[in-house]
Amino acid sequence: MRLVCFECGKSYSVNEARWRCDCGGFLNLEYDDINVNFSLNSHLPGLWKYKHLLPIKDDKNIVSFGEGFTPLIKEHIFGKDVYLKLEYLFPSGSYKDRGSTVLLSKVKELLIKEIVEDSSGNAGSSIAMYAAKAKIKAHIYVPKGTSKDKLTQILACGSNLVVVDGNRNDTYIKALRDVEEKGLYYASHAWNPYFFEGTKTFSFELFEQLGFVAPDTIILPVGNGTLLIGAYNGFLQLKETGLIKKIPKIIAVQSENCSPIYYKINGVSTDRCFETLAEGIAIPEPVREKQIVQIINRSDGDVVVVKEKEILDALSLMLKRGFYIEPTSAVVIAALKNIKTVAQTVVLPLTGSGLKAGKKIERVVV
Ligand SMILES: *Cc1c(COP(=O)(O)O)cnc(C)c1O
Ligand SMILES: [Zn+2]
Repeated sequence: MRLVCFECGKSYSVNEARWRCDCGGFLNLEYDDINVNFSLNSHLPGLWKYKHLLPIKDDKNIVSFGEGFTPLIKEHIFGKDVYLKLEYLFPSGSYKDRGSTVLLSKVKELLIKEIVEDSSGNAGSSIAMYAAKAKIKAHIYVPKGTSKDKLTQILACGSNLVVVDGNRNDTYIKALRDVEEKGLYYASHAWNPYFFEGTKTFSFELFEQLGFVAPDTIILPVGNGTLLIGAYNGFLQLKETGLIKKIPKIIAVQSENCSPIYYKINGVSTDRCFETLAEGIAIPEPVREKQIVQIINRSDGDVVVVKEKEILDALSLMLKRGFYIEPTSAVVIAALKNIKTVAQTVVLPLTGSGLKAGKKIERVVV
């Protein structure tokens, strides 16, 4: 197993506390051999039954709340039969816990005591929670204007909350400066390769819950691509070991107000980003943009955008049906409406809980 740079291909040992290549490129984990015996670690709780497919050596380093195996349920929406994976039922209220449980376990294994993360919300609160469980000091940087409930969640876990007087990008620059000046480990969900190892378990669970087959299509929200990249890598490992023949078609959904991946794929050069209801995926410059585009192409997938009104309508529809999700999570439902024929197995994750977006939900739908 080794860390490999996406840009220049240079590789590094997994025993190094490294999150970026010397050339500035981002890193991915590569395995030498993969054991897909799904019952090998079935004594471990939740998604940790896939430990032999994850980069953690010793059980004693696992930092876990027993997360994973979110329900997969069948629903009929817009005349289409689809599966919804209820990723908002994670301990911190979003699927980000998949990434955090693996990343914080690795941080513990590396004997690191202090970490930095920057986030516009769910990733920050998830990392804060797992850092608290692991007794690791976390400095969480958020932009001014981040929703109050997410700040409370970060503070309540005992993290050092740094509110940056600026936008999402200013926050990233400030966090990075402190990482470099203070020599702290950057546990960024956008950069850190171990976070993406965790989100990979989304696909293993799906495969198992569908009766050991892959779905034909998955429709995902995309900002930094933490779920998209993880999901693809999970299916890739299943394909490499012969368990599935074909990787599902991946349809990425962005908000029309902030859609850099959509522009990139359609050859338009712009970095404009306006406010959107889908705050969780409002990322003007995704670190792993090239990797996201590559995955959409390799899976024979697509990227679509949805308008504010469509997000709002989809959110209202889901809330009325009893799915208490945050506005960002509704983008996939909005996209489903526009997708013409859905003949095969289609899965949509519902990524984040409405419980920390009460104010926003109240403002727009009640
Ligand atoms: C993080 C997040 C996403 C996906 O965002 P990425 O930036 O692509 O990782 C989607 N929905 C919610 C609720 C999120 O918190
Ligand atoms: Zn490199």
